[in-house]
Amino acid sequence: MAPTTVADRLYRTCDPYGFELLLTEGERAVLARLRRALDRDVAPLLEDHWERGELPGPVRDTLAGLHLMDAPELGAEPRKVYEGFRTFELARTDASVAVVHGGQAVLFRGAVRHGGSPEQVARLDPAIRAWRTRGALAITEPGHGSDVARGLETVARRVGGEWVIDGAKRWIGGAAAAHLLAVVARDADDGAAKIFLVPTAAPGVRVERIERKTALRMVDNGHVTLDRVRVSESHRLQRVDSFRDVARLLRAMRGDTAFLAAGVQAGAYEAALAYTGSRTQFGRAVASFQLVQDKLATMLGNLTASLAMAVRLAQREEEGAATDADASLAKAWVCRRMRETVALAREVCGGNGLLLDTRVARFFADAEAVYTFEGTDEVNQLVVGRAVTGIGAFV
Ligand SMILES: Cc1cc2nc3c(=O)[nH]c(=O)nc-3n(C[C@H](O)[C@H](O)[C@H](O)COP(=O)(O)OP(=O)(O)OC[C@H]3O[C@@H](n4cnc5c(N)ncnc54)[C@H](O)[C@@H]3O)c2cc1C
Repeated sequence: MAPTTVADRLYRTCDPYGFELLLTEGERAVLARLRRALDRDVAPLLEDHWERGELPGPVRDTLAGLHLMDAPELGAEPRKVYEGFRTFELARTDASVAVVHGGQAVLFRGAVRHGGSPEQVARLDPAIRAWRTRGALAITEPGHGSDVARGLETVARRVGGEWVIDGAKRWIGGAAAAHLLAVVARDADDGAAKIFLVPTAAPGVRVERIERKTALRMVDNGHVTLDRVRVSESHRLQRVDSFRDVARLLRAMRGDTAFLAAGVQAGAYEAALAYTGSRTQFGRAVASFQLVQDKLATMLGNLTASLAMAVRLAQREEEGAATDADASLAKAWVCRRMRETVALAREVCGGNGLLLDTRVARFFADAEAVYTFEGTDEVNQLVVGRAVTGIGAFV
């Protein structure tokens, strides 16, 4: 039956409440270009490349060519809601592609824009937006993930006009393809966290790809060793003087991860809807069974509530009102919904749900990485718990 009303039409999409209508016409035009490019140039390559553990060659060039950070329609300063839907659209196609874009546009660019002096931002940002300078944000260490704020072992020593950095970083997304790593290190003198832009080509930097990963297989995650690496003071981000400043960056990143987790749900839901509509059992489409429809409705409910939370958080960020607890609340809650949604999507596709060809398997596997990075479920719940009770319960 052809959809007749606006509400009918929206229910044929993955955004039945029409949150997308909050976008301006210009923003929607940029995202429509993105959608077309993803469908045409990226989607057909995903399953083979996921299996091989390689990012399809054209992805970075395709993303750069779309000017998703600075298209003319976006004005001087793209809005948070637009940036969120940009991540949502990317993740709806593929979580690895969204993470590759986010590594450049949200993590690395965010570190430079919010941590750099006006002069550093003016010098670096145009090349970052155009992907001429590629970067990654390196916080996590082999021995310190959740407790990195207090455990940070990478050390920077001031020697004249230079800094000498020693340490190791783990899980760094896009490290092998990066020109610069934004490395969080402890100042040996005052003990405070600082961020240094370290060229991957500098003597003493070694990047090894982490192999045998079962999620986000197309993203290269690096183990980085820093052995007496020298950078000048001009490579230190001038507005980061403590881990509190690093946490400020993480807040914006967690909001973006809520959109990413909503996008993963959209991709899984759409794939499940398509499959259950075409697969027949007992002489009828699987989608016609009540128990399957219950699962489809649950997925859509999860997805819609996730988008509501992500959108409202983005608006609060725009208003300058978002707190650490706001971001953690959304990151943890949306990721829990995501885990349920991708499991249901996999389930309604039966055995074929385990095959890459059905498309849900990729979302199902990748969701585990999204669940864990930008703060695990426990860490984000503890941030909220601290805000609710006034009592820190991390240890
Ligand atoms: C695919 C992927 C990409 C990533 N990309 C990046 C990147 O680009 N840059 C970067 O810096 N990092 C990156 N990370 C690292 C990520 O941020 C960490 O994995 C995450 O912070 C968790 O740290 P951990 O893996 O060391 O787990 P751990 O901290 O060892 O935690 C293990 C378990 O213990 C729990 N736990 C820890 N402390 C507590 C506590 N106090 N109370 C209750 N439970 C607790 C955790 O929640 C978790 O369940 C990435 C990780 C992955 C998997």
